[in-house]
Amino acid sequence: METKLYTPPQNKTCELVFWFCYPAINSFALSSLGYLWLLKEIEMLPDVCVEKVTTDTQTTRFMPAEVDLMAFSFSFDLDFLKILEMLDKYGVPLRASERNENHPLVFAGGPVVSANPEPYRDFFDFVVIGDGEEVNVQVVNLIKENKSLSRAEILKLLAQVEGVYVPSLPAKVKKSTKKLQQCIYSTILSDEAFFKDTFVIEVERGCANCCRFCLACFLNLPIRFVELEELKRVIDLGLTYTPKIALLGAQISAHPKFHELCKYIYDKAQERPGIEMNFSSLRVDAITPDVIKTLVLTGSHHSTLAVEAGSERLRKVINKNITEEQIFSAVRIAKENGLKGFKFYAMIGLPTETQKDIDALISLAKRLKSTFPGFDISFGVSTFVPKAHTPFQWCGHEDVKSLEKKTNYLKKEFHKLGININISSAKWDYWQAVLSRGDGTFTQFLIDAYKLGGKSGAFKQAAKANKIDTDYYASANWDLETQLPWDFIELTAPPKDFLKKQFCSII
Ligand code: SF4
Repeated sequence: METKLYTPPQNKTCELVFWFCYPAINSFALSSLGYLWLLKEIEMLPDVCVEKVTTDTQTTRFMPAEVDLMAFSFSFDLDFLKILEMLDKYGVPLRASERNENHPLVFAGGPVVSANPEPYRDFFDFVVIGDGEEVNVQVVNLIKENKSLSRAEILKLLAQVEGVYVPSLPAKVKKSTKKLQQCIYSTILSDEAFFKDTFVIEVERGCANCCRFCLACFLNLPIRFVELEELKRVIDLGLTYTPKIALLGAQISAHPKFHELCKYIYDKAQERPGIEMNFSSLRVDAITPDVIKTLVLTGSHHSTLAVEAGSERLRKVINKNITEEQIFSAVRIAKENGLKGFKFYAMIGLPTETQKDIDALISLAKRLKSTFPGFDISFGVSTFVPKAHTPFQWCGHEDVKSLEKKTNYLKKEFHKLGININISSAKWDYWQAVLSRGDGTFTQFLIDAYKLGGKSGAFKQAAKANKIDTDYYASANWDLETQLPWDFIELTAPPKDFLKKQFCSII
């Protein structure tokens, strides 16, 4: 069941019909705060009719031929497979150049296309780069007001909007950056969402830690915090609907009033037992007895900690400057104050990594287990994938065979220790790396990969047929002077020279 927490205007006129598509099943769409917020913003417009369309949507109110505008939320590299499937399903040509005046304008937004839209450039008439809240409404109004113009004329107008990239009209594009005066929060509650019936609140956007691999940080600079008073107001609002609240952000513990926020939640939970509060992520240096007591009082028995690498040397290389002492102190505080366990996140295949760093991860796990008996410890590991706009954008993804060797070794050693470990697939991470540093030559390769079924073998076959040297995109260390496919995007910060300096400091 889905409960809307807002009331759209009644008796709307449909001057523009908008399909807002999510390239996954409905439960995923219902778990995406950004998507649901944008959907609500459009639905509140008096003369625009918007429909939520997901891969499992059976029927729609409007026929495909009635749709003026079709948008896709693009959060993961491999989402393009579902996007192409949805275009096919509704009879919309996959390439923008093959659409005519009878087809909807098709656009995308989200972190993948904001970082590097080039591999997908031919699928979209335009792309929103950066924060979508204000741009989306601006774009919808612009298209509605100019419906009598041709597609080409509308695209010319769109190209002038800050944050909009029109691939057929190449130009420098400035990323759109929203001020976070008003925070965004759940607009629909549902028992189908992954966080069932939970009211999710965005506490901050971005992160000031600047770990050298981290897209979430570099794409969203500068870090922006929602004012404490606004957060209190929205927490109170959420509690009028449900006792389950989740706080979201790349680094919520960096909020300047984080401890006051915890105290507010703690006091609320004491007044009203049964309140459940989830925090998306905590840094080890933010873990204090009061923070843990708040987590425990509000029903969290486990939490996550990202250590990223096993050795202090490698943590310094990636700019995750936390010491072993801090990690042990955080776990001690957590255990003493009632938390039952931590899942630690780490990466393998990071630039400059050696066998010693892999062994250091095993040793860290072993010592954590023996120092804190009875405390649940598990690990989640992914392989390093280079991302656009980060200081590690020039570094290649490690060879798949070598990563698989490390994966097997870690699994064997963790099994001996009796510690659970999940490791991402090096093979799929390779394809992610290809896509994340891909360019405008990819169109037919991606269409073929999709048509061949979208499995790893399909990518291989499609790359071969289209003469794409995927190792160059995924695995090669690129020269600092290489022209990058995403160089035409101007982020708010930082300039490319800063990234180069950060990169050079590790070699
Ligand atoms: S602390 Fe986390 S969110 Fe912040 S830069 Fe590092 S990895 Fe990214």
